[in-house]
Amino acid sequence: MKLRRPPKLRSKGRIARRLGAVRCTGCAEALLVFEDVEKIRCARCDRDVPVPRALRDDVDFLVRLDFDPDAEAIRAITAQTRARHHSPEAPRIFLLLLALLGALLMAYALPISSRGQWGIASSFALGFVLTLLPLGFTAQWLQTAYDTRAIRRALRRVLDAPSSCPRCTKDIQQLPSGAAGPNLPGIFRCPGCKRMLLRIEGLIVEHGDAKERAERLASRAGALLEGESWLEQRRMSLQDLLVLLLVGAALLGLFALILLYER
Ligand SMILES: [Zn+2]
Ligand SMILES: [Zn+2]
Repeated sequence: MKLRRPPKLRSKGRIARRLGAVRCTGCAEALLVFEDVEKIRCARCDRDVPVPRALRDDVDFLVRLDFDPDAEAIRAITAQTRARHHSPEAPRIFLLLLALLGALLMAYALPISSRGQWGIASSFALGFVLTLLPLGFTAQWLQTAYDTRAIRRALRRVLDAPSSCPRCTKDIQQLPSGAAGPNLPGIFRCPGCKRMLLRIEGLIVEHGDAKERAERLASRAGALLEGESWLEQRRMSLQDLLVLLLVGAALLGLFALILLYER
């Protein structure tokens, strides 16, 4: 089944800026400059690399961007996950059997008014509905949890991808999510091909207008999610089936109690 509604995932509310990037004099990796500093250290080769005066004096350096790259990335990854993810459904026959048991028990327990034909039939219907509704609700809730987990996993998969320039495939400094210091989303000029790139952690695409950004983020996220087998989880886990069984058992127990009380 396709996702019905997106899980509650919000942008981190980080401020995106025009960043700087300098080529490491040792390993040639592109190092990102998030603040106005004279030099930065390359984590890969442990070398101090000077930040050129021209970059720091540029009026655009560290200027705020008028869009939210975090939100755009989350939107793209969520949509790409939705297109690929099929959350497992509860087996219908299992739910129907439980509902049928509930109906039989209720028909036996609670013949409405006198023990007429219609009394038994309406108790049967009541038992069926009273069992199926909570079971269906639980099944839906479990399914939403699968969807949420899939999107969280997809976000990590895409945002932690090894970063490189999509044009010149030059390595761009990889900062693990949650790395110390600023790790802001933003745009910067690739030291290799001089194109303007947009970076949201490991997700790096060519910068452009809103429509171009949306297309590029979607295509990059889609490429990174291609072939991820966990997106195609067909069966509900045993644990979740057990949850459904417990809900069913609780309902049947309740009807049995009514039966005892009525006698
Ligand atoms: Zn280096
Ligand atoms: Zn490049």
